[in-house]
Amino acid sequence: MKRRDFFKTAAVVGIAGSGLMSGCISKGESESSAGNGFNFNRLGTGTGLKLTFRPYELQLRHTFTVSSYSRKTTPGVQVRIDYEGFTGFGEASMPPYLGQSTETVCGFLSKVDLSQFKDPFQMDTILAYVDSLSPGDSAAKAAIDIALHDLTGKLLGQPWWRLWGLDPSRTPDTTFTIGIDTPDVVREKTRECADRFNILKVKVGLDNDKEMIRTIREITDLPLAVDANQGWKDREQALDEIFWLKENGIVMVEQPMAKERIDDNAWITERSPLPVFADEAIQRLADIPAIKGAYHGINIKLMKCTGMREGWKMVNYAKAEGMRVMLGCMTETSCAVSAAAQLSPAADFADLDGNLLITNDLYDGMKVVDGKITLNDRPGIGCTEI
Ligand SMILES: [Mg+2]
Repeated sequence: MKRRDFFKTAAVVGIAGSGLMSGCISKGESESSAGNGFNFNRLGTGTGLKLTFRPYELQLRHTFTVSSYSRKTTPGVQVRIDYEGFTGFGEASMPPYLGQSTETVCGFLSKVDLSQFKDPFQMDTILAYVDSLSPGDSAAKAAIDIALHDLTGKLLGQPWWRLWGLDPSRTPDTTFTIGIDTPDVVREKTRECADRFNILKVKVGLDNDKEMIRTIREITDLPLAVDANQGWKDREQALDEIFWLKENGIVMVEQPMAKERIDDNAWITERSPLPVFADEAIQRLADIPAIKGAYHGINIKLMKCTGMREGWKMVNYAKAEGMRVMLGCMTETSCAVSAAAQLSPAADFADLDGNLLITNDLYDGMKVVDGKITLNDRPGIGCTEI
């Protein structure tokens, strides 16, 4: 074989073997052309990426209460990136505790100039540029990252779970969250969701934890996760409560005490009969070393970690360190939830119910079927506009 032929063959085998392009190339087409008509020879030429965005307030089905606040609506910003006739969708959702708002997200997005980039597959370069524009703004950065993944997946004609080599049959059940409320409301909410899910997540961390659990146990025996949202103040009391929770069918605990109290959280983790996960204590990839040993696992959320690219790195880093992985979300449309769901076959627990909590979704995407996250075959993040 001539040297030149070898390289040609190796390139085609390399692409097909990676799974990236399987099904995209058919006889008679250029080797650089996807089945959807996109010509890969055009990458790096023509016009740059076009970023647009608009605020979109999400309406909640129920008033949502955790240990620190209550709310009926939640702010969001919808993003799209257009390139060569293809569109990638992204979203920023900003719960109050993130310290980000419609104003800060739109202010950040206004500073971003994606028109300088003519190849959306240069994600390292593009996302490093976006990240360099400010130290925070994780939700706005996630919106761009999600739209870029959606766009590139669509150009390749494949969903991201496939590009990452994940098995869609291995998605976990998702929890459905019940906020802190009066016993009557908790009973009603539990009745509404108990038939549709295989595991529920209960917000605790105030002084009515046991009342919350007992009320839910009047209605269902389903396994429960609990999220203390840093609400427990004393480590001995917290550990006593965790033993009580285990006896009552709870299977995992999220963020027992304040994130700054690493030693107290580590003390609980060391003695806990249930797996303990960090949420508020973990934002991005670089935060993992500091909490290693203090928790059994981490809750990865795209809005905290700047998106799918860093989220996937966190999954792999955490697993390499022997930690478990949970995937969480904010209250958001099926856009950001479907993006997070692409990672879900790699997760031990998933809490991807954000789109089920709103009444004005904009997208059709990932579905919960019999309580289980169910991925579709659509390219990119797998969602389409309603
Ligand atoms: Mg949490």
